[in-house]
Amino acid sequence: MQGVGFRPFIYSLATRHNLTGWVRNTSRGVEIEVNGPAQDLQSFLNAIRTEKPPLARIDQLDSGPCKSNSFTGFEIIASQAEPGQFNPVSPDVSICPDCQAELFDPTNRRFRYPFINCTNCGPRFTIIKDIPYDRPQTTMAGFTLCPDCQAEYDNPLDRRFHAQPVACPACGPQVSFFSGGKVLAEREAAIKTARQLLKQGKILAIKGLGGYHLACDPTSRAAVAELRLRKKRSDKPFALMAFNMDAIERYCHVTAEESSLLQSVQRPVVILKKRPDCAIVLEAAPFQATLGFMLAYTPLHLLLLEPGDDALDVLIMTSGNQSEEPIAYLDDEAFERLSPLADGFLVHSRPIHIRVDDSVARIIQKKPYLIRRSRGYAPDSIQLAEGIKSVLAVGGELKNVFCLTRDDYAFLSHHIGDMENYETLRSFEDGIAHYERLFRIKPEIIACDLHPNYMATRYAQQRAEAGQLPLVQIQHHHAHLASCLADNSWNSEEPVIGLSYDGTGLGTDGAIWGSEVLVGGYRGYQRYYHLTYVPLPGGDAATHHPARVALAYLWQAGLDWEFDLPPVMELCENDRTILQSMLRAKINTPPTSSMGRFFDAASALIGVRQEASYEGQAAIDLETLVDPTERGYYQFDVKENEFNPAPLWQALLKDWRAGASQPVLAARFHNSLVELNLELCSRIRKQTGAKVAALSGGVWQNRVLLENTILRLESAGFQVLIHHQVPSNDGGIALGQAMIAAKTLENR
Ligand code: ZN
Ligand code: ZN
Ligand code: FE
Repeated sequence: MQGVGFRPFIYSLATRHNLTGWVRNTSRGVEIEVNGPAQDLQSFLNAIRTEKPPLARIDQLDSGPCKSNSFTGFEIIASQAEPGQFNPVSPDVSICPDCQAELFDPTNRRFRYPFINCTNCGPRFTIIKDIPYDRPQTTMAGFTLCPDCQAEYDNPLDRRFHAQPVACPACGPQVSFFSGGKVLAEREAAIKTARQLLKQGKILAIKGLGGYHLACDPTSRAAVAELRLRKKRSDKPFALMAFNMDAIERYCHVTAEESSLLQSVQRPVVILKKRPDCAIVLEAAPFQATLGFMLAYTPLHLLLLEPGDDALDVLIMTSGNQSEEPIAYLDDEAFERLSPLADGFLVHSRPIHIRVDDSVARIIQKKPYLIRRSRGYAPDSIQLAEGIKSVLAVGGELKNVFCLTRDDYAFLSHHIGDMENYETLRSFEDGIAHYERLFRIKPEIIACDLHPNYMATRYAQQRAEAGQLPLVQIQHHHAHLASCLADNSWNSEEPVIGLSYDGTGLGTDGAIWGSEVLVGGYRGYQRYYHLTYVPLPGGDAATHHPARVALAYLWQAGLDWEFDLPPVMELCENDRTILQSMLRAKINTPPTSSMGRFFDAASALIGVRQEASYEGQAAIDLETLVDPTERGYYQFDVKENEFNPAPLWQALLKDWRAGASQPVLAARFHNSLVELNLELCSRIRKQTGAKVAALSGGVWQNRVLLENTILRLESAGFQVLIHHQVPSNDGGIALGQAMIAAKTLENR
């Protein structure tokens, strides 16, 4: 990977060992020739691995003798450019400890300079227009290096040797503060103004690394409520940013693993458990027992959040957009779109080439579990178990991420978003073109979902037609299974049990699937079990109405809509009559086996949530309530290819009538699914011998379900595969699509 300081590292290492020769970049790595005594060569070789720079990754290190050459010194020589070849591009990297120390060192010439960076840190992917990664190919091209910066850039022993975004107050980008279309302050004063206004409860748009954030004081109820109103976002949690770990620990419990993920170079938003005395207002993350925190990851963020009487060391930092539009990243566009939302703008003059949202993760089983893989991770490649044909897999409709493969690399894009507006579609198309150019990929195969109306599917059809390329359409839950396999470098023909549980995905029978127990691998699958179909009132719109889904489930189970049941009380008589006739006449009630909606129904029935402002909200509330000490569970009726929840609903209602508490009922519901998972896997093992289970789909973001299922399956002797590098939700399916498409057409 270029721009991680590997060549200068080799230069200083060779010099230290008194070796002569050279180092250069090639398309697939670094080539080194060194001359010297065998003993020095050996210790040089050892040191490459043990002392490598923090951002460098050594996949493979090959060495062998060459003929002795009489070099007089050690040199970094020009890269060998090979047409069609590529170098991996580094993701953006959070500020390194050295730069952070310099930022706050009054004797340093970059003291308080918001764009300080070096070979070990700073912007990368968001500023690259093309490869090779040289300054003219970045958005830093317009800034001419001053003599001091140039000297550092040219000195192989300097931390800023060939650091493309290198800059200083004399020659680099600057910040300014705008309000009402006018510049109010510049440089240091601009940051000061922003700090003061935030402290006073104002809402500001702040230009960062991959786009604009909207920021405000998370301890001010008025500010947070106003932000919700302006963003038209009712309940979805806002992310928070803190100056340091101390600030985060004032509000949340942080485990050792969470702490290291927060401080990792990727600096994702990490989902943490709130402290009982947390002073952050409930409106920041309504109904949640958790908060999403990230550490300041750029020098500008550090200056904004630096503790002081005039400022806050914790801020809400949510994406700069209204409801579900993509995050704003171009200055003109940001001013236009965000002016109605922000009281002022803290902007800077370094252009952002591509918009990249913050990543989101949580810790599961002491390891990072990604919910959104974007800034800091993309465009790092996922290493495939073997080389495959070049595939463009376009992903799904929600949380879209596309994937391009080349050899044994899979490049998963940054988060594109929900493909429901023109802006997102454009960002998707531009993104694909950008990745194809950066990584010199010409797809030979196009892969997409089965759903004919997904925007991504239509794009794939057009691409395939225009380029005369084979198009492979892949069932959504099969893609989830394959994604989990690829995430685990699975490279075996042994059939795996896929528990693909999510909200929605088109099935091969035209129904909306979502609780799919599959057996198979990349090359195919068989559908063994699923929830008994239930009519979904209003189709996709049901996502927002858990109460209606609950009533549909009761109706199907032959249980009365008794007047005191929470979802029955939610609907007026007229609505219930309409719903009943819809169900009877099968009008606008597509059959579904969605696991997400099943959770929604349980949440409504237990009286937790009847209406949801975003998908999964009712299920999240239900999970939050679970009493971890409760062991009870309910039975499903497992027959043929179905598991029917009728007995579960009956038993649950009986417990509810008997006065069981919500935490107990929520726990029993979760436990029921854990037991069901074990039962289904055991039945399949008996039938087929399969003993590996892969857990994929958005429902597996439910920690209670995930951790307990792993425990239960493992103690019964199953090997359990879960996601590690890509999200279990639809942000990961493009990887599965790519693998399935490549394997399907392998021999053609
Ligand atoms: Zn640095
Ligand atoms: Zn300079
Ligand atoms: Fe899905």
